[in-house]
Amino acid sequence: MESIIATQDLWKVYRTGKVDTPALRGVTLEIQEGEFVAIVGPSGCGKSTLLHLLGGLASPTSGKIFVEGNDLSKMTDSERTRFRRHKIGFVFQRFNLLPTLTAKENVELAQHIHGNGFNPHRFQMVVEMLGIANRLNHRPYALSGGEQQRVAIARAVICEPKILLADEPTGNLDSENSQTVLNMMRTLNRTLRQTLLMITHNPEAAAVADRIIHMRDGQLIED
Ligand code: ADP
Repeated sequence: MESIIATQDLWKVYRTGKVDTPALRGVTLEIQEGEFVAIVGPSGCGKSTLLHLLGGLASPTSGKIFVEGNDLSKMTDSERTRFRRHKIGFVFQRFNLLPTLTAKENVELAQHIHGNGFNPHRFQMVVEMLGIANRLNHRPYALSGGEQQRVAIARAVICEPKILLADEPTGNLDSENSQTVLNMMRTLNRTLRQTLLMITHNPEAAAVADRIIHMRDGQLIED
């Protein structure tokens, strides 16, 4: 079976002035469709860099990234933007909801940008699965952190992305809300067979995944 994500000897070197920082040093990785993978490692080990490359938000210094067999490095900028919009959902540590829109409008905007129009069936299923059906008319400031993150997850999966990339999704949540959010990600993975890649420095968060990849100093050290 072809992997949904595959990387070959991925390097990313940041250059600031005359200083080179190698954030990724030869990452080779395969992820199968429907897997829930956690990438764990200490701050600065290159987790975010890897996630950004896999999501087409940045380009590697060298090496290859294939998503569903498509080579990201061969895409033009506009192809990569289209790829990102249609294949990838992102969830961030700080939720990144638009503060002037209600929860419902935040989710609807994602559907609008995607260009698929409103799909009431999908919308209802997702908001019920994430337990936010009765919070939809509130703006983000009136929601708890856990609720905001669940709205952000709804926004990320509403357009059925093949891959959901989550960057420290529980980093700003207390332990109870973290557990709720993690359980819901688990449900999305099990029920919708959503391929899910989460980076975290928290071993408890990683424990909900099927597979844990450990990173250190820009390399994968254990799978
Ligand atoms: P993590 O997500 O595991 O904390 P990062 O991928 O954010 O790690 O960072 C890996 C390394 O790359 C760190 O040494 C960090 O300081 C460096 N780095 C990250 N982004 C940049 C950047 N835009 N410019 C220069 N160095 C960066």
